[in-house]
Formats: sequence, structure tokens, C-alpha cells
Amino acid sequence: MSVIRTWSRHIRSEGLLIVLSGPSGVGKDAVLLELAKIYSNFSRCVTTTTRDPRQGEVDGIDYTFISEDEFQRRIDEGDFLEYANVHGNMYGTPRKWVEQRLSEGVDVILKIDVQGGLSVKKQMPSAVMVFLAPPSIEELEKRLRGRLTESENDLAKRLSNARGELDQIPHYEYIIENDSLAKAAQELKAVIIAEHLRVKQ
Ligand code: ADP
Ligand code: 5GP
Repeated sequence: MSVIRTWSRHIRSEGLLIVLSGPSGVGKDAVLLELAKIYSNFSRCVTTTTRDPRQGEVDGIDYTFISEDEFQRRIDEGDFLEYANVHGNMYGTPRKWVEQRLSEGVDVILKIDVQGGLSVKKQMPSAVMVFLAPPSIEELEKRLRGRLTESENDLAKRLSNARGELDQIPHYEYIIENDSLAKAAQELKAVIIAEHLRVKQ
């Protein structure tokens, strides 16, 4: 006996592309680590950068660290889905890796800045745009300082860029305030689940 499910075509089968942006130090990495504890159905894209690795960062896990010449070569070869200069360093999203995962039905999270996020949305309108906001600018500064990873100069650059990034919130579809890590991770999980339940037109 055949099973009739005429609505099957309205159920999403391909992977979701989720853009997670927010000012440096807001807690994007921390929230993704927290999310992985309660929800494992996603792949975080390892992006490429020309910035120097911080203490403890591992090539191929935190980022793919490359030289400026190599970055330029990859731009010329069209390897990046998007790329941008962020706080004085180049960062780019590997196109092939993202396309491959999505076609396999895997959800991909891109932890990228607002310039990159808007560029991805233009190319892939179905991308889900999530902005992670700090509880306050004072708390953002406290977190950034507490991380002890930036020089005073870099810190000032990141904090002054934060205001411009917060101005881009209206281009995003969801806003999650990272006051508590557990709550922010729960809310991100809720967004992903809700997006999966959207009727496919
Ligand atoms: P980002 O990836 O956005 O640059 P991180 O994930 O590195 O930020 O977080 C910056 C700092 O803030 C880290 O030391 C992290 O442990 C801390 N942090 C993140 N989320 C919270 C939170 N909800 N409450 C307190 N500290 C947090
Ligand atoms: P950090 O140097 O603190 O790791 O990252 C600085 C900023 O660059 C963060 O906002 C981060 O999300 C962003 N970023 C990381 N990878 C990419 C990328 O591939 N493209 C873009 N546009 N931004 C990225």
C-alpha cells in the first residue's frame, strides 16, 4: 500500500545557512560552544584569516591562518563566498565547503562580521540572519578586556567598530541578547528549529 503524503514537498530537506554576527567580544564563540552541548545538528564553518593566531588557537580548527599573498590568490581564484577586512585583517568564507555541506543537508553556521553577513544574504536570500547583541557596551568592553587576547590598540579598534556593527541590526532577522550563555544558546537553538519548520514554498 502506498503512503500518500502530498505535503512532503513543503518540508525542508536541505541544510540551513545561518549567519551569526555581533561585535567582537559579545560571545559568538562561547555561544556556539554552549549550543554544541544542547544541539549537535550543525557544522560551524572554519573561515580563513590573515590575522595571527592567538595563544591556544589551532590552524584548521579556529581558523585557517594564511598569509596576505595567499589570501589574495584565493580571492583571485574565486575561493571565497564572501570576504572582508575586519578590524584591519582579512577574513573569508570558503565557498566550496559551505556549498558542499548545504547540499548534503547539513546546517552551516557562519560566524562572520556584518559586511560578510550582508554579502551572504545578497547571494543566498534564504540565509537566516542572527545578530548576537551584548547586554550593554560596558559589558562588551569588560568581556573583550577579560579575554586578554588583544593589544590596547586592537581593543580600541574593536570597541569603536562595535557601534557601527550594532547599527546594522535592522538588516538581521533575529536578535539574541547574550546576557546568559545558556539562555542565548537555547534561543539560537529555537531559531534553528523554527526555521526548519517553515513551510517550503
Ligand atoms: P566573540 O567570539 O564574539 O569575539 P567570545 O566568545 O570570545 O566573543 O567571548 C568574549 C569573552 O566573553 C570570553 O571571555 C567569554 O568567555 C566571555 N563571555 C561570552 N559570553 C558571556 C556571557 N553570557 N557572560 C559572561 N561572559 C561571557
Ligand atoms: P576575531 O579576530 O575576533 O576572531 O574575529 C573578528 C571578526 O571577524 C568577528 O566579527 C568574526 O565574526 C569575523 N569573521 C570571522 N571569519 C570571518 C569571515 O570569514 N568573513 C567575515 N566577513 N568575517 C569573519
